[in-house]
Amino acid sequence: MSDLLAAWSDAEGAARARDLFSATYGGAPAGVWAAPGRVNIVGEHTDYNGGLCLPIALPHRTFVALRPRADRTARFVSAQEPGVREVDLDAVAPAGAPGAVEGWPAYAAGVAWALEHEGLARPGQIPGFDLAVDSCVPYGAGLSSSAALECAVAVALDDVAGLGLGADDAGRARLAAACVRAENDIAGAPTGGMDQAASLRARAGHALLLDCRDGAARHVPLDLGAADLALLVMDTRAPHRLVDGQYARRRQVCEDAAGVLGVPSLREVADDFMVGETTPEEVLARLDDAEQRRRVRHVISEIARVRFLVTRLDQAPGDQLQGWALDKVAWALDASHTSLRDDYEVSSPELDLAVETARRLGAHGARMTGGGFGGSAIALVDADRARDVATGVAGAFAAAGYAPPAFLLASAAAPAGPVTA
Ligand code: ADP
Ligand code: MG
Repeated sequence: MSDLLAAWSDAEGAARARDLFSATYGGAPAGVWAAPGRVNIVGEHTDYNGGLCLPIALPHRTFVALRPRADRTARFVSAQEPGVREVDLDAVAPAGAPGAVEGWPAYAAGVAWALEHEGLARPGQIPGFDLAVDSCVPYGAGLSSSAALECAVAVALDDVAGLGLGADDAGRARLAAACVRAENDIAGAPTGGMDQAASLRARAGHALLLDCRDGAARHVPLDLGAADLALLVMDTRAPHRLVDGQYARRRQVCEDAAGVLGVPSLREVADDFMVGETTPEEVLARLDDAEQRRRVRHVISEIARVRFLVTRLDQAPGDQLQGWALDKVAWALDASHTSLRDDYEVSSPELDLAVETARRLGAHGARMTGGGFGGSAIALVDADRARDVATGVAGAFAAAGYAPPAFLLASAAAPAGPVTA
């Protein structure tokens, strides 16, 4: 039987972060804050195309204990990384520039930098701080441990600097934008914005329908437990292959295709189908380049799948998700994987094996999730079958000679905030 990676309770996560804080810096932190990783149900590689996506916040969270300082020095320690690091907040420079912050503290220092550069805090308003991090969000699994770290730091700094942005969704959208800037500019990692929105703007018991064109968010009820279903996350733990260049290339091809079609983003094309102004075939026929045609076909069909799934969930949020309604959801999840594999070409042999095995063992739909080239896949399974499916997938990996995968159960959990436990 395969183990499922458990989420820490607030009390456990807070105790871990506090203990690391005291052992490293002495004394107690001013508080503990936490932010979740996320898993996307459908809507992949749509965020940077102004499209739609449908993530949930995971019950797995990153905890940060923080105490402000009287100066502008920031110190960083993480249970997941060696050593204590120190950064002068007045000297934070963009990735690649002289003085750039090396390694993981870039994600955290980047948030302090971005709050000021996005105009959310006055210059110097963010104090220096001592920070201790501990997390049960797996790294590099496509579950956005990077956004969990940024967003935990963001809500912590929001509180200690008295910005008040965490109080409502509009403020949280601005915090999310600052976290995106931290990751893009200071950590030097491209990200489209879905991860930070999910971590800061999701709601427990709901999926987050995020419109990446205007940033509008709607909470769509999602109670899988009521339908005796579970969402199994299968972390392939396979090394990411070529991921940096490939992600940038996908973005570029989409941008080029939008240029050929004369629209600001591929979202506009997807919207035209809604009023019958054009058809997917007509749009694709206007693209001479075969690669552009494949990528565009993925993006526009994926946006349609988000719309479809949301319609289904609106009508059958929980206990009615069965019979033909469940079959349709399964079909949409499976079609998303096929599209990502064949048209967007971001899957991997490990992801394909996880998906195919889960389906063979009775999953109601399975797909890769996140950016691809490694990372995780999801399978919608009968709740009482989750462990058996995990065991079967682990067996298939062993038989194929792949490293052992890891598993966890996802449910729609709460967004970033202070931890009172
Ligand atoms: P993902 O976001 O899919 O987990 P990324 O490569 O985007 O993968 O982000 C992982 C990186 O984020 C790590 O290599 C590290 O630099 C940083 N990070 C995430 N969580 C932590 C943590 N708990 N402590 C220190 N650094 C972290
Ligand atoms: Mg990440």
